[in-house]
Amino acid sequence: MTTPAGQPARVIVCVECGGRAHLLQIADPEAPYAEGDWAPYRCEDCLDRFDLEVVAEDLDGSAPDRPTV
Ligand SMILES: [Zn+2]
Repeated sequence: MTTPAGQPARVIVCVECGGRAHLLQIADPEAPYAEGDWAPYRCEDCLDRFDLEVVAEDLDGSAPDRPTV
């Protein structure tokens, strides 16, 4: 499973505990994420909620931290 280009990674490393944090809102095809938007994540381990600013690297599919499932 890969992350489609044009949206932030669906799973990232939690900034608080190092666990897996999941993107809460998958990009709507009609309202895709854009650079400068805030992508909401929630950690499955500590249940913390945080937002990450979307950067250009998220949108071109070249982010180095894309997980393999
Ligand atoms: Zn966490």
